[in-house]
Parts: sequence; C-alpha cells; structure tokens
Amino acid sequence: MNEEQKELCEAAAAIVKESASLYSPKGRLYFPVAIDRQGNEIQEIESDEQDTVCEDCYAETVRWFRAQRKAGTFNYQCSDLAGIQLNEHTSPETDDFKYCGFCQEIIYTGVLHTFSQEIDHWIEVDVDDFPRQMNFPKDAWLVHELLTSADAQQRHPDELEILAHKILLLCDTSLFN
Ligand SMILES: [Zn+2]
Repeated sequence: MNEEQKELCEAAAAIVKESASLYSPKGRLYFPVAIDRQGNEIQEIESDEQDTVCEDCYAETVRWFRAQRKAGTFNYQCSDLAGIQLNEHTSPETDDFKYCGFCQEIIYTGVLHTFSQEIDHWIEVDVDDFPRQMNFPKDAWLVHELLTSADAQQRHPDELEILAHKILLLCDTSLFN
C-alpha cells in the first residue's frame, strides 16, 4: 500500500471511528469438543452451526447440546460419546471474522485477511444503503477493522482504496455542515 492509499484509509477510518467505538466485540472463542467416558477429547465438532461460541453464550450452548442429545436430534455419530465440552481457542487466527453461533456477535480474533470477500462486500453495498449501515456500530466496527488492518492493507491495497473513497464520498458528514 502506498502513502496516498494509507492516508485515504486513515481519513476513512476516522469517519467511521465514532460509530465503531460504540461496538465491543466478544473476547473469547469457544468450540465444542466430543469427549468419551474417561473425559478424553475424541474430536472437534465442526459441522454444527454452534461451532463457535462467545463467553456470554457458553452456558446456553452447553444446555443446547444437552437438550439435543436428550431429544436424540444430535447427529454426531460416535460410539464412545459421553458428552460435549467447550474448549477455549486461546489464540485464534482465521481468514475471516468469527461470529458467535448463538448471539451472532463478532468474536474478536486475529483475522488474517487472506481473502478480500469482506472488503468486496462493503464495496458492493448499495450507495443508498451504505451511510445508514455505517451508523450501525457493528458494521462500522467491521469496516474500521478492515481499514486499519496492516494485513488487509498489505494484501488488498486497491480494494481498501475503493472502500475508503466510498466512505469519504458518502459518509463524511462534515462536508454537509
Ligand atoms: Zn454469543
């Protein structure tokens, strides 16, 4: 990313910063693991929609799995399955933002911006909708993260430049005052 692009990103980030500051993502990521009768971990349970859970939904998730098993609707096949426990992912790094499977809030992780889908998504949001969406703290937070991510800046400088231009063009309310 060149200097000009970097300045554009900084200016755009400053515009969404206030809205973004109203959002605080969850801090801990848990994932369900099947355990056997001895309490040994058998396998990570990946296919469920509840495969990432935040700290606030921990207890609810444990109850959910228990209810699923009791009702016989838990489709995980394993002969020695004795229960499900939730393990914490201590230093998660992912290609994309992680959401809690229960409350849908963002769980703060180290996002490696290998793909540009998230940036592309915000570039493609309709111009009539975009300023309104930037008033949603969660959306503003995501966009602020993208604009200030060293990883994203290095890998997707041109996409970020387009996104920054869009923000400066559509969301800079100081222009209208
Ligand atoms: Zn949650």
